[in-house]
Amino acid sequence: MILSYLRSAVRRPCLAQKNGAALWVCRLSTQALPSSSDQNLKFCIVGSGPAGFYTLDRLLKAFGSRIHVDVLDRLPTPFGLVRSGVSPDHQDTKNVINQFTAVARDPRASFYGNVALGRDVSLQELRSLYHGVVLAYGAESDKKLGIPGEGGRNVFSAREFVWWYNGHPDGKHLPVDLRGVSSVAVCGIGNVALDCARVLLHPLDELAATDIAAHAMEHIREHGRGIKDVHLLARRGPVQAACTPKELKELVGLPDLAVHAPPAQMEVSVADQAEMKKTRMRRRVYDLIKQAAEGASSDQSSQGSGDKQRHLHFQFYRSPKEVLLDSEGRVSGVRVEVTQLADVEGKGRVAVATGRTEVIPAQLLLVSIGYRSLALPGVPFDDGRAVVPNTSGRVPMELVEAAAAACPEESSSSGPAGAIAPHPQQQHEHHHPHQQQQQQSLESSPGSTNSLSGGRLYVVGWLKRGPSGIIGTNAVDADETVSCIVEDVLNGLLQGAPPGSGNGGISKEQQTGNLEAESSSSSSSRDLRGDAKSALATKAGSQGLLALLANRRSQAGPDHQVVDFAGWERLDATERAAGQQAGKVRQKVVDVEDMLKVVHAGA
Ligand SMILES: Cc1cc2nc3c(=O)[nH]c(=O)nc-3n(C[C@H](O)[C@H](O)[C@H](O)COP(=O)(O)OP(=O)(O)OC[C@H]3O[C@@H](n4cnc5c(N)ncnc54)[C@H](O)[C@@H]3O)c2cc1C
Repeated sequence: MILSYLRSAVRRPCLAQKNGAALWVCRLSTQALPSSSDQNLKFCIVGSGPAGFYTLDRLLKAFGSRIHVDVLDRLPTPFGLVRSGVSPDHQDTKNVINQFTAVARDPRASFYGNVALGRDVSLQELRSLYHGVVLAYGAESDKKLGIPGEGGRNVFSAREFVWWYNGHPDGKHLPVDLRGVSSVAVCGIGNVALDCARVLLHPLDELAATDIAAHAMEHIREHGRGIKDVHLLARRGPVQAACTPKELKELVGLPDLAVHAPPAQMEVSVADQAEMKKTRMRRRVYDLIKQAAEGASSDQSSQGSGDKQRHLHFQFYRSPKEVLLDSEGRVSGVRVEVTQLADVEGKGRVAVATGRTEVIPAQLLLVSIGYRSLALPGVPFDDGRAVVPNTSGRVPMELVEAAAAACPEESSSSGPAGAIAPHPQQQHEHHHPHQQQQQQSLESSPGSTNSLSGGRLYVVGWLKRGPSGIIGTNAVDADETVSCIVEDVLNGLLQGAPPGSGNGGISKEQQTGNLEAESSSSSSSRDLRGDAKSALATKAGSQGLLALLANRRSQAGPDHQVVDFAGWERLDATERAAGQQAGKVRQKVVDVEDMLKVVHAGA
């Protein structure tokens, strides 16, 4: 998918989309803006993961020389889960960063790392500085099992564990303790669960040659050898397993590993057969598990499996009910309830409890049942779905205004807010005190002086649709969001015209979406240009943001320095060089403080 994206990006100015929206993005949008550079569109993307970068790429393609886009990230490092999620043994997948790097080097784009929405800058401030803000800050929390014992020692969410082995700064101090661990249970059977299992079962020398964080590798090498059994727990059956064949094949194909799946759990019902017939991927996943387990049992019958050091156990139809803890509060097992599938009206085939329970021994428990986005101050949020409410990526302005009004810090100032709360993932971080002097300097910062109206709000990626889909899914998602932005520009909604102020001089055809037809009409293009030119508000953009941050950071100290893309590239080069010396792809720097030292040493 990624490759096909790259190929098509080279061939065409913009990735074609089913409804043709992305095609007219390229043709029309630049006509909608005046040519004078001081009135360029200024956009800000919050989050530099795949969704943020694909959006950047699409915005640059759509608006040509008439746009500047700033990309913020709370970390000094870009690329989101490509750096801190994708498994260390999937180096090829990470090659997408070459594409993102090329986009980031574009003079119409600026990267500002170590800048967190909700910690260093508020949404209202960004909306005052830019014509539009695109939220792409992903999903940095977890769904919970909600069962007793979940808070025990050596019980972690998959996100935390992945951050630990991938060197995310917030994961370094996770108290993973593999000493005395012989059995691991992983709740969930999606690709992330498989990644966790693979990292624990991978041959050590191969793992050590990847970009795995040094602290994790050291711990696994020293204490992880005792792991004999990994149990993958799923509430439903093998046909409903949420993983994909490629990742599964890699796991069951690891050397020195016997795979087990009780034959009774591999039985398929008529409904299962129908599901497999409908979706080839489900059939493939089922077959892979069956073949791997049968391979192990035939090995056993020919007395060959005795020399396999490690065992992977698929545990289907098992729903966790209680985490069992020893006298020191450390996990010793998981009590699971046996389930069966039943048709429930309105819900389809769901796992229902049978009342029978059993215990699966585990001294490490990883909960991999889904990520969850975080609500940030002043950001509209649908708590039930854990996404920013949107229609095709456009956040309704009434929700934006309501969220701003409901947030005291956001609503207390029309420009920059005063004290900003620490980012939810960084509660330990120093945050800015309410100091009169600071407040005064912030009030006179550029963001507050030249804002004619708050910029529009958009959303993309996991924060928009929930935590599912591969890297390439975010490209299609970005196409959709950028199509909305183009539409809003054409409709004069980003140029400072207050929402609901008539049609802004656009024709009926434009309003009804027949934009392709409009592109061939020179008179309508003139109308659009004229309308946009008269209404385009001046926004401070990067300049205003940097001034605001400089004011704030003079109080906050060196940990809060902004990292630009050149700074990241210095860190990148340092990590690669250190990796080469250590015989691995990259040696990640994992402390923000250390990252900043490297970044600023070469500046
Ligand atoms: C463990 C794991 C492994 C995966 N492996 C693969 C794989 O092998 N192949 C594949 O195709 N897909 C894989 N995926 C899926 C892929 O990573 C996602 O589809 C993609 O990363 C989602 O993109 P995003 O930009 O929405 O979120 P993210 O990648 O999470 O990016 C969000 C960014 O926002 C930043 N941010 C967060 N809060 C703030 C804030 N307050 N202010 C500023 N910035 C902020 C974060 O630091 C981060 O950089 C994997 C996912 C996971 C979880």
